[in-house]
This record gives sequence, C-alpha cells and structure tokens, in this order.
Amino acid sequence: MMSLPRSEFPLLAASPRLVYLDSAATTQKPRVVLDAIRDFYENDNANPHRGAYELSVRATRRYHDARARVAAFLGVRDSDCLIFTRGTTESLNLVASSWGRANVGAGDEIVVTAAEHHANFVPWQQLALERTARLRICELEADGSIDLDRLRTLLGSRTRVVAFPYVSNVLGTIAPVREIVDLAHGVGAIAVCDGAQAAPHLSVCVDDLGVDFFAASGHKMLGPTGIGVLVGRRYLLDAMPPFMTGGDMIEFVEDDHSTWNRLPHKFEAGTPNAAGAVGLAAAADLLQRIGMDAVRTHERGLVNAAYQRLAAIEGVRIYGPAPEHRSGVLSFNVGDVHPHDLATILDSYHVCIRAGHHCAQPLMRRLGVSATARASFYVYNDDADVDALVNGVMAAREMFSRVGA
Ligand code: PMP
Repeated sequence: MMSLPRSEFPLLAASPRLVYLDSAATTQKPRVVLDAIRDFYENDNANPHRGAYELSVRATRRYHDARARVAAFLGVRDSDCLIFTRGTTESLNLVASSWGRANVGAGDEIVVTAAEHHANFVPWQQLALERTARLRICELEADGSIDLDRLRTLLGSRTRVVAFPYVSNVLGTIAPVREIVDLAHGVGAIAVCDGAQAAPHLSVCVDDLGVDFFAASGHKMLGPTGIGVLVGRRYLLDAMPPFMTGGDMIEFVEDDHSTWNRLPHKFEAGTPNAAGAVGLAAAADLLQRIGMDAVRTHERGLVNAAYQRLAAIEGVRIYGPAPEHRSGVLSFNVGDVHPHDLATILDSYHVCIRAGHHCAQPLMRRLGVSATARASFYVYNDDADVDALVNGVMAAREMFSRVGA
C-alpha cells in the first residue's frame, strides 16, 4: 500500500512539516474516526441500555454494533467475550485482579518475560506479592526474542499464568504466540497476551491464537483514547468475579447480596464509553479496508529503510532484532547523547520521536541503559519521514561531536 494521505488526518494536514514517528505511544486520528464520534454525539447520543425510548435504543444498537465490528476485526467469533475497557492497562489489571485473585495462591508461579511493558508486569508482580506467589521472569535472547527452550525451563506444575507481549513496544520483536500458548497450556497455565502493539500492526485473529486473554488499546490503532478491549475465553470470564461493581453489571441487587449480568456486561460497570467504541469500530473498519497485510508490508518497508540507514551512521546502536523480525518500532541510541537531548534536537527539525524507558524498566536494565530513543512508524508515514529522521539523527550527532571536541 501507499501511505494513507495526510489529508485524511486533520492534525497532520494542519501541520505539513510535522514528522510524526511516535505511533507506538499513540496514533494520529483519521477523519473517519473523528466523524464517527461526532456523528454518534450529534445523532444517537443517549445512555445505552438505560432507556426504553427510541433514542436510547439507537445508542444501544450503535454500541453493540461497534462491539461486533471490533470483534470481527480481531477475529473474535463470540463478541460477548470482547469487553470494552479503557485500554490495555485496564484490561490486564482486570485479568490479574479478577482471574488472578480467584486462581493464584501461595506458592503458585506466574511467568512473565523481560520484555514486558509495565502494564503486563506490575499487575502480576503485585498479585504475586499479595498471594506470596512467585514471579518468574523469562530472560530474552541477545536480539530480544523469547526462546521457547528457555521459557520451557521456567514452567511447571505450579505455573498458573504465562504473560507475554505479542510485540515488544521497545524492540518491536514479534513473539511466537502459538508456541508460547502451547507451552502454557501444556502445564495447565493460562496464556495472557498483551496485544497493544500487535492489533494495530499485524493481522490478528485472537480465536486462532489460542490465547486465554488478549488485551489491546484503541488509541494505538487510529481509534480514540479511553477505549480498549479485553478478549477472554467464555468459560474463564463466566467463572471470574467482576472487576468493578455498580450499574449495568448486575442482574439483581438484594439488600445483602447481588447477582451478575451476563457477558459482556458483567465486566462493564457504569455508563460505557459508547462514543469511544463507535470511534474504535470506525478505526477497525478503516484498517480492515486497507488490509492488515498491506499495513504490515508498508511498515516493513519503512522500518527496513530506517534501520539500514541509521545503522550506517557511526555511533548509532539499534536494539532488538533484524528489521525483518520486527514490527514498525526502532529503538536506538546515538553514542552517549542522552535520548532526551536527541529527541529535543529532532523536535527542532519537527520530528517527533519518543525518548525514555518506554514503561519497560526491567527491559532497560537488561539492555544496560536507562533510556533509548524510539521511532515508530504507521500508515501515514512515508519515505520522506525516514529521510527526516535520518537527517535529524545525523545533525544531532554532528552537533554533539562538535560539543565533545
Ligand atoms: N502494553 C504495551 C506493549 C504498550 O505498548 C502499551 C502502551 N505503551 C501498553 C501496554 C499500555 O497501553 P495503554 O496505555 O493504552 O493502557
């Protein structure tokens, strides 16, 4: 595919010189998504599930329709098993809190990888501390990949959970999901997949992956902030206690106890973010129209070019695997230039990159750095954006070598 025209993205259209290379943090929003949100508020806004009047029925229908479209995009046949949350962080906290408290006890083991975003690390760490369970961390190979033999040595009869990122937000490494799931299931553990960096960039069919839980965020896939998904297996979701309680998620509230609504409502307490869901569905439709294989091919071209050209600059160190084994993420450092300084200099060239620990401090420790610079690509980026990145890095290097001289 060609890149999507910048004219489809109001923010990019309004800033022709802006080179946005921070889509792993959040993506820009296309007009179709903004229009869908506005259309919901202008034409169908009411509190879903609450009213008997026609307008509320319409709002409810749009919310349900959004769920069906997002489920279709993610390859989830039973859309009742797709729960709308605020995003990946909430989804993973829901699993660790609700499933975890009901199923993890003293002496049990939880396995995570060293590549985890804090959102798939800290909830399990805290659960382990609360339950005096053991958190085991699967170290990575030199290129940042997950080695299945190494993972196998950590699994045993006490393993309850294997949590892993489908795609690392720092290294872009793509995990062998089906093999990890088989290993987890082989010891009777559940497999929890952080799909935040996968759903926007790869063709994902959650049902085929075999994972027990899958989490993703709308804002990283052209959708709005404040909406995301948790997909879970029905028998697990049915057996789990609710995460939050309140309106909509109950069946009956007696004075001394309550019973729970059916899925997905049991996990959607309170007024849902219907406009967010409508916006996310519009984003999913757009990605489906483009085709996720085309998205992946486009990003591969950009990341490959950026990788080759940055690697050729003296002093540039790129972290993670070869370009063909990664999604559209490139973390790097330039000599001993601090990544924050690098990002500030690039900003003066209108190039937006991320600098920091990327919410992955355990991984930073293993890389032996406190921070990296990170460029990430998406559907609206093109070769000119790679040129701007490379030129900016060369200029920064030049500037610092002069200062150091
Ligand atoms: N996991 C990964 C791999 C991520 O990249 C992110 C976002 N940086 C998250 C989880 C958390 O997503 P959110 O902030 O949307 O909840």
